[in-house]
Amino acid sequence: MDYYEILGVDRNATKEELKKAFRQKARQYHPDINKAPDAAEKFKEIGKAYETLSDDNKREIYDRYGEDGLQNAGFNPNAFNMGDIDLSDIFSSFFGGGFSGFSSGYSRNPNAPTDGDDLRLDIEIDFLEACFGLEKEIKIRHLEPCEDCNSTGIDKNAKDSVCPVCHGQGRVQKSTQTILGSFTSVTTCPNCHGTGKDPKSYCKTCHGAGAVEKEKKLTIKIPHGVEHGSKMRIAHEGNAGKNGGRNGDLYVVIHTTQSKEFIRQGFDIFTTLKITAPQAVMGDEVVIKTIHGEAVLKIPAGSQNGDRITLKNQGVPYLGSDTQKGNHHVELRVVIPKKLTPQEEKLYRELFIISKQQQESILGKVKSALKK
Ligand SMILES: [Zn+2]
Ligand SMILES: [Zn+2]
Repeated sequence: MDYYEILGVDRNATKEELKKAFRQKARQYHPDINKAPDAAEKFKEIGKAYETLSDDNKREIYDRYGEDGLQNAGFNPNAFNMGDIDLSDIFSSFFGGGFSGFSSGYSRNPNAPTDGDDLRLDIEIDFLEACFGLEKEIKIRHLEPCEDCNSTGIDKNAKDSVCPVCHGQGRVQKSTQTILGSFTSVTTCPNCHGTGKDPKSYCKTCHGAGAVEKEKKLTIKIPHGVEHGSKMRIAHEGNAGKNGGRNGDLYVVIHTTQSKEFIRQGFDIFTTLKITAPQAVMGDEVVIKTIHGEAVLKIPAGSQNGDRITLKNQGVPYLGSDTQKGNHHVELRVVIPKKLTPQEEKLYRELFIISKQQQESILGKVKSALKK
């Protein structure tokens, strides 16, 4: 393909015209911009054409003998080197115009307001504390605004804080030589890591972060009725925001210990109570333990094993309510004695004889029927 055609100029084009045509074409076919599959190949051709035609000596050989002539003269047109062509100025207009779509490593303005991170703290409280709530002192480590630099990150006495490498942009253009020529990409400034501020001017206390990690004691009020896994949000106690961004929040995640006496489901409490057979038969009144203290439980006569008796409002105070409470459910377990005192044995035998007499006639009929 003809080099003049590649660049779109006529054979008498001046050096200025060649340069202008090359810039325009290179911009059009730069593989970072042009995603057409043949863009890289075109870009390579453009570079090869310009490299040849911009060199008076090579241009003369090319004009007379074409591509073959260059090779015979010891020039390898395929091994072109664009090192002496400053491609970065081709793209400078893009950067000035705020074009940022194709750059790798380009990050948003590092000095824009950034909200602080939320933090999480796990604490353990015991079973009854979760039921009734408590005030608890906690210790957290979070980022607070740096007082020494007013959270700017810059030493108060620093004269100039602008990064000398990127001039405050936070990013730099980087040219890379490849077989396809020189590519310009935008990367985070290696000197300031994107802040646009000179690390030499950083505040000695916070090292440019504008915030310092501090331990803080807080007294938090854990409400009654919280459960294992409940989450409390403590507003603004997360990490400090930067450049005017809001502070993050602190999330306190509550873990509760288990109780040996009580099982909790929601706001209800469940316990079991062992009773004797006579208690189940005759009914009784007993003292039981609830989360609120001692209470009297009435066992009705004729209670069955597994029966459940509910004590209203003896459960956990509802989270968020000052009046409502859950219930306390007591499951009865009738315990059959394995050993009896002589007196008990005598009384159980009497009971046994009574119940036996009630069944005797039926048993006799079934047994004699089976014998036949
Ligand atoms: Zn910089
Ligand atoms: Zn500071």
